[in-house]
Order: sequence, then C-alpha cells, then structure tokens
Amino acid sequence: MGRRASSQVNRSTCTRAVNAELQTESKPQSRADPSVEEEVVVVGGGIAGLSTALALHRMGIKSLVLESAPGPRDSGAAIALWRNAWRALDVLGVGEKLRHDYILLDRVQLCTKKGKVVREFGLDEVKGGPHEYRGVHRSALLKVLASELPEGTVRYGTSVQQVLPLDGGQGTELILGGGERLSAKVVIGCDGTKSAVARHLALPQPNYAGYSAIRGVANFPNGHNQKSAVRQIWGAGVRAGTYPMNRTDVYWFTVFNSPEEEPCPSCGRHGTEAAGAGLGRGWGGDILNIIRATPAEATTRSDIRDRWTLPKPVGGQSTWGRGSVTVAGDAAHPMTPNLGQGGCAALEDAVVLARELAKAKVSNDTKTSQNGHRADKSTSLDPQAVEDVLRRYERERIPRAAKLTVQSWVYGTLLQIGFPPVTFARDNVVVPYLFQPDHWLDHTLYDCGELPTS
Ligand SMILES: Cc1cc2nc3c(=O)[nH]c(=O)nc-3n(C[C@H](O)[C@H](O)[C@H](O)COP(=O)(O)OP(=O)(O)OC[C@H]3O[C@@H](n4cnc5c(N)ncnc54)[C@H](O)[C@@H]3O)c2cc1C
Repeated sequence: MGRRASSQVNRSTCTRAVNAELQTESKPQSRADPSVEEEVVVVGGGIAGLSTALALHRMGIKSLVLESAPGPRDSGAAIALWRNAWRALDVLGVGEKLRHDYILLDRVQLCTKKGKVVREFGLDEVKGGPHEYRGVHRSALLKVLASELPEGTVRYGTSVQQVLPLDGGQGTELILGGGERLSAKVVIGCDGTKSAVARHLALPQPNYAGYSAIRGVANFPNGHNQKSAVRQIWGAGVRAGTYPMNRTDVYWFTVFNSPEEEPCPSCGRHGTEAAGAGLGRGWGGDILNIIRATPAEATTRSDIRDRWTLPKPVGGQSTWGRGSVTVAGDAAHPMTPNLGQGGCAALEDAVVLARELAKAKVSNDTKTSQNGHRADKSTSLDPQAVEDVLRRYERERIPRAAKLTVQSWVYGTLLQIGFPPVTFARDNVVVPYLFQPDHWLDHTLYDCGELPTS
C-alpha cells in the first residue's frame, strides 16, 4: 500500500512551492543528565496522541501522554471518519464502541447555494466499497481512546515548553511549564499544528490556505428530519455542508475566503451570526435553520493551514524526525480539511508508529536501567534500535500524508473559486453532467495494517 501511495505522490503535477527542506536549527544546548525516566513520552492528548498511546499500549509499550489542557476535551464539534479511520480504530479495538452511536452516511448531495441538488449519488456507486462514513463527536472519540489506556497514562494540565537532546544522543529532555524536567527514550510530538516538538525539529510553520472555517453541531432534542446524506452547498468563495450524526445532532460547516486571522466578513466570529449576516445570504434549503439551532458557544472558527512535505527524504535526512524524536497527526502533517482526512490520517499514523516501535522492544526481562531501576520487560526499548524504527515509520507515512495534503489543497482551492463564470459552469455543466464519483474515495482505501499480536 505504501508503494502505491508513493508512486501517486510522484505523479503530482501541482506547482505550488514545496516548503519542506529542514531548516538548519540553531543548536540547542544538550543536557548532561544520563538517566532516562520514561520510555516513551507523547506530547499532546488529542486524536493523534491518545491513539498513539493506545496503539503502543496494545503492543505492550508503556507511554506517558502530556496534555496542556486541564482535562479531557468536551468541545470541538464533530469529525467525519472514513473507512481508513474505522479500519485503524478496529485495529486499536475501539471501532465497535463508537460505531453504533452514529449514523452510517450513505449518500452525497451536491447543491447550489440556493439549495438545488445538482448531483446526488450513493456511496455504493463509488469504487472500492463498501465504504464507511460516520460523523462522530470529537469528545466521544477522545473519550473512547482514553478509556482503554491504563490509569495515569495521561497527565493533563502539563504543557511542554522546550525539547532538548540529552548528551550521548540516547534520549531527550523535556522542559515542562513550571520548570519541571523530564527525560524520555522516545518523544512523539502529537501537539497539533503549533507543535513545540515540530519547532524543535525545525519543521517549517504551516501555511495559511486563504480561507477559514466555522463549524458546529446543531441539536434537535425531538429529532431532526435529515436523511443519512452528506450535503455540500457550493457558492462563490463560500461553501457549506451538513450531515446528521445521530437522531438528534446535525454537524455543519461553512468555509469562506478570508484574510488570515480576520473575523469572517461582516459576521463576527460565530456561526449563528454568520447565518444572520452576509455569509449565508441567499442560501436556500435548511442550512440556515441548522446553523441557527446551534448555540454560538458550540461553534468553532479555524483558519485553515497546511504544510507540504517532500514525499522522499532530503539529502538522506527525514523531513519529520531526528534521533529519538518524531511527530504524528497535525504536528507532522497539518492539512486542509477538504478531504476530511487529517484526523483519519492521525489514526493511521498511530498504528504504523506502534508497529514499528514494537520492533525495538528488548526481549529479556532483567534489563536494568542506568539509574539502577529494573525496567519493566514489556516497556523496555533498545535505544540503538529506536532511531531506525522511527525513520522506518516516517518513510512509510510521509508519502501517504504528502499525497493527502496536496490532494486536499487542490480540492479546496477549486472549491473556493469565487469567479462567477467559473461557479456558473461548475453548477450547470461540470457537476451535473461531467463529474463521475467512481474514484472519489480512492484515498480512503488505504490500509494501515494490523498490530502483531505477539
Ligand atoms: C474545520 C476543520 C474540519 C475538519 N474536519 C475533519 C474531518 O471531518 N475528518 C478528519 O479526519 N479530520 C478533520 N479535520 C482535521 C482534524 O481536526 C485534525 O487533523 C486532528 O484534530 C488532528 O489531531 P491531533 O491530535 O494531531 O492534533 P490536535 O487535535 O490539535 O491535538 C493536539 C493536542 O496537543 C495539545 N498540545 C499542544 N501543544 C502542547 C504542548 N506544548 N504540550 C502539551 N500538549 C500540547 C493540545 O492541547 C491538543 O490537545 C478538520 C480540521 C478542521 C480545521
């Protein structure tokens, strides 16, 4: 599968400047404390962090997750999970815990902004089925992942401020908020688009894509009347979408061209205001009613950013990791949400990373660490082997993430075109008569593989 993805990346003809070469990092001072306290520290307890910790746990590798938020997140609207994500969740052993609470979406409706459906198709018409597509509450996904971790795995209210290499190159020191220091054999940065770990690795800052999104979940206590379909509504430089999640909740989003970090034009920062002002003017169908059924505090605005990474290492050097430090999820591959794949790809990362890291496990059970403590057999990693397996993980994941990032950007750029002749042709010719959904979900056919049982 990795080989297939890699060849597809190399075929990409997009001309956008690729900002991927590792910048030279001003050499941080290394510390002379040789005792490594933790085997694996995962920085960030979002989708990437918790799924990575769970995958490691399934492989008998203990980890400590450091999360800056004071407790489990209960906001963040919804996330669409496609077949590749469900596959990863099943490998992690939690797919069934979520699946039954959420509707299986089986149709797609492409609409003009007035609400006219110009193209509708079933997911069973898309090649590679059966497809699985459900929108789940982010908080529910995080809760399910965390519930399978041994107690004490996640340390909330702990922010990583700085990442430093330990002398001798076998381990990393983390400086936490409040000045506490912690050392680890392996550090995995799952700390999102503003990642401190990515900064330590001198990864380039993500680029603004030119548009922002507002999203929310509307609640209809007596039930909604939505079909099990995802609806996309396309205007000029602004679009929206909805899908039902369960009997009472409907997810919606709007995406609009906007200067970076500007409030959306004439509508303030919240979706409910957006519905009442310029953003949704002239929209038909029930999108505005759905948006209005959402309290302002249940909406989120995000400026959309991504980072393009070369699918092959530059000068033999990985574009993601170095030494015993690597990244996963948005810290590794921030991408635009147009394919709905950022979180799905984070789940894939977790499985591949744990499978590789397990190859560095030390087999004897009497290993003694340098500070004299007996290390637990199930969590002991060979520091010599760690770097190799991390680079193998990166080689497997970088081409996959690079392809998703570019494809998502292209899709978003086309959909955000605001030039009326182009949108007229889209709504009246391209979508109703030329668009074929056959290969629409090829990117969700990726299989992250299993976690070996021994
Ligand atoms: C509008 C929009 C819609 C989207 N829709 C979808 C979709 O439908 N499907 C999909 O798959 N993806 C979607 N995505 C992408 C998806 O949200 C992300 O890819 C996913 O949340 C990434 O998870 P993560 O754990 O890598 O990062 P995050 O969710 O950002 O989690 C990072 C965590 O690290 C913590 N942290 C940060 N810095 C530190 C630090 N220094 N120390 C300790 N902790 C730290 C944060 O508090 C946070 O909990 C969407 C994104 C957007 C913006």
